[in-house]
Amino acid sequence: MSIAFDGGCSCGAIRYRLTSEPLVVHCCHCLNCQRQTGSAFVINVLIEAERLELLAGEPRRVDVPRDDGSVQKIYRCPTCQVALYSDYGRPDIRFVRAGTLDDPSQVTPDVHIFTRSKREWIRLPVSVPAFEVYYHRNEVWRPESLERMKALG
Ligand SMILES: [Zn+2]
Ligand SMILES: [Zn+2]
Repeated sequence: MSIAFDGGCSCGAIRYRLTSEPLVVHCCHCLNCQRQTGSAFVINVLIEAERLELLAGEPRRVDVPRDDGSVQKIYRCPTCQVALYSDYGRPDIRFVRAGTLDDPSQVTPDVHIFTRSKREWIRLPVSVPAFEVYYHRNEVWRPESLERMKALG
């Protein structure tokens, strides 16, 4: 059984497919993500770059400064400028923005991070791990995902 996770930008110039289940799904409440999205958090689907297949178009990379001095590479549609995915210094892992999936309900967060800057009015489900800042992979990821990560080296 395989599920297609297809998505794209608003104008349709970029279409992509995730060819497998994600490694993990983050809901990030940090201030960088709030600023970038103009919202209260971002939902990022982490997946190996080789499992993110571009079906149409070529996203353009924009280097965006982060509060810690690092740079986040955000890949946008060159036409409508919608942000489709990022990488955080490891180009072999993409952080795909879940809201760009055709059916965003296909994914739900496996973990909430940077809850120290979470908006107060957001109630997190008790069943999902949440961390003030970040976490160690072994605490959260499924064994299959840890294996996949190991395979990347
Ligand atoms: Zn577009
Ligand atoms: Zn964030």
